[in-house]
Amino acid sequence: ARRKLIAGNWKMNGLKADGLDLASDLAGRLTGAGTVAFDMLVCPPFPLLFPVGDAISGSPLALGAQDCHAKTSGAHTGDVSPAMLTDAGCRYVILGHSERRADHAESDAQVAAKAAAAHKAGLIAIICVGETEAQRDAGQANSVVASQLKGSIPEGATAANTVIAYEPVWAIGTGKTATPDDVKAMHAHIRAELAGKTADPDAVRVLYGGSVKPGNAAELMAVENVDGALVGGAALKADDFWAIATSC
Ligand code: 13P
Repeated sequence: ARRKLIAGNWKMNGLKADGLDLASDLAGRLTGAGTVAFDMLVCPPFPLLFPVGDAISGSPLALGAQDCHAKTSGAHTGDVSPAMLTDAGCRYVILGHSERRADHAESDAQVAAKAAAAHKAGLIAIICVGETEAQRDAGQANSVVASQLKGSIPEGATAANTVIAYEPVWAIGTGKTATPDDVKAMHAHIRAELAGKTADPDAVRVLYGGSVKPGNAAELMAVENVDGALVGGAALKADDFWAIATSC
């Protein structure tokens, strides 16, 4: 069985004191809870990786970043290498989030190159895919997602080094969530598309993201082939994020 992953994408939010409070609070709850049915991950902005990593080191709470470069070092002003992330204590990196695809014109090929570099550094890549509202309305959701998967998953991807996150763009930060039926259909489609692209498609975790809240988490996490959540806004409040995690 695939163990659920509850991942918090903090995006560009929080200063050091906020990040330390939030991460320490969650690490404390997780430690206090003992055996739980999920893995929990926080992905703070780059400047907070070291302090947050230090604060939660030794706890079951995992650390991840929100992007990395495809090269190991060199003349790439403003970029961050995979090894810098592992140095800060990261085990995961989110790649190809729709906000990076939109704000930084990231292509599938770039996402695949970043994921390959992340794998080489020992990181688990969380590769994001998802259609826009216009694409869904045009009946293209499945083909868009299939083509993103084909282009963004690098050679050598396995369930141990790769997680897929399905985030319909129209559901991100909007309060609109896909219906459980839509999620079920898309996650089955993604599972089928993973064949041939990963060594062990049945074991790869596929997360849902887009306006996941305490009030809808149980319903979404119960959907077949949904192996966790990638949470934005609701991951910034310890109570909400904890409620989402404990609803699975
Ligand atoms: P929201 O949970 O704020 O909709 O964001 C989802 C997301 O983009 C997580 O990566």
